[in-house]
Amino acid sequence: MFRNGLLTSMLCLVVFHARATSAKCWSDNACIDATTCAVRGGSSQAGLCSGASHIRCCTCNNCMDVAACEASGGTSHSGICPGSANMRCCVKGSNPSGIGSSKPVNRMLTDLADILRKAGLNVVEEPGWKTRGHGVMASVKGILIHHTAGPATGEYPSLRVVRDGRPDLSGPLSQLGLGRSGTWYVIAAGRSYHAGATIDDSIFGNSNSIGIEAEATGTPVDNVGHKHWPEVQWESYVRGVKALQAAYGVPTARVLGHKEAAVPAGRKPDPNFSMNEFRAALG
Ligand SMILES: [Zn+2]
Repeated sequence: MFRNGLLTSMLCLVVFHARATSAKCWSDNACIDATTCAVRGGSSQAGLCSGASHIRCCTCNNCMDVAACEASGGTSHSGICPGSANMRCCVKGSNPSGIGSSKPVNRMLTDLADILRKAGLNVVEEPGWKTRGHGVMASVKGILIHHTAGPATGEYPSLRVVRDGRPDLSGPLSQLGLGRSGTWYVIAAGRSYHAGATIDDSIFGNSNSIGIEAEATGTPVDNVGHKHWPEVQWESYVRGVKALQAAYGVPTARVLGHKEAAVPAGRKPDPNFSMNEFRAALG
């Protein structure tokens, strides 16, 4: 599902603050989602924060000055280090949740169709895709897995809205689409509005992650197995993402469902299959 909004990121701060009011954590602001904590280079401790069980006290494993961190090839994350504002949690390149092997690309991803075709997949190139996008991609550090929440029938009935957008959000809404038959639709080579606010926009935001909108109604909401998905579509989803990972150097830890990456937690339900099963299939 597509999302792009400043308002939701503002709401995010409110939610985190409200959940932390009775915390015994070292800082109210360090009571955050455990997955978010790990991506930012921290360790989570249960029992110190109020709210849902996934909201835990996050402590950075490596607090460093921002400039020193980035000079050594790391990525800095705010909010989980005590002290002055320049002290942030530094994730080094060796950490699969960190900057990894992905390099800045600052270009249109005009190789998308070839990458998928070489993996043996059926690919349809939507006319004009190589120049379509909201500017170039800064990097490809993450891949976000979506479903369209579209019509119940048809191969890829959401193509037009993914390409052209909606009245409130201009297209493209993702670079790639995946039909019910397992066919891939290459829609845009540039930045696309699929992510909205995420746990770490430097990895999963629109400038740094590829979005894939797979055709599905998205109902019922489910996190177990993939029984609501055609097997041929599921297998193609796995194979295509593996090819993209190999081409851009994206580790499996940075292939997230929109429901895992979106903030605040619970903002998005997609995809309605098990992301743990999906990542296990990626190997
Ligand atoms: Zn989504």
